[in-house]
Amino acid sequence: MVNKGTIIYEPGNSINNKTGSWRVFKPILDNDKCIKCENCYIFCPEGCIQPDENGDFKIDYDYCKGCLICEEECPVKAITGIREEK
Ligand code: SF4
Ligand code: SF4
Repeated sequence: MVNKGTIIYEPGNSINNKTGSWRVFKPILDNDKCIKCENCYIFCPEGCIQPDENGDFKIDYDYCKGCLICEEECPVKAITGIREEK
């Protein structure tokens, strides 16, 4: 019998895995402070920070797991991690 291990049988199925469901910390992004350097966009391991049509960066909390790498990488402290409220 083949051990399934971590094989992904359905490409693109990770969109169903909403990693934001177990977040402990929540990053809050202040676009008034943001200088659009794209560090958060580049470093976010979930790819859940994207610019909108106005160039403002938004966080998709369905997929943000609260690692706060974005807060660490933001050069102007435009992202602040707070404790998640359930
Ligand atoms: S906390 Fe982590 S997962 Fe969430 S937006 Fe920041 S870098 Fe991405
Ligand atoms: S890292 Fe900070 S300054 Fe750079 S785009 Fe993200 S929020 Fe804006």
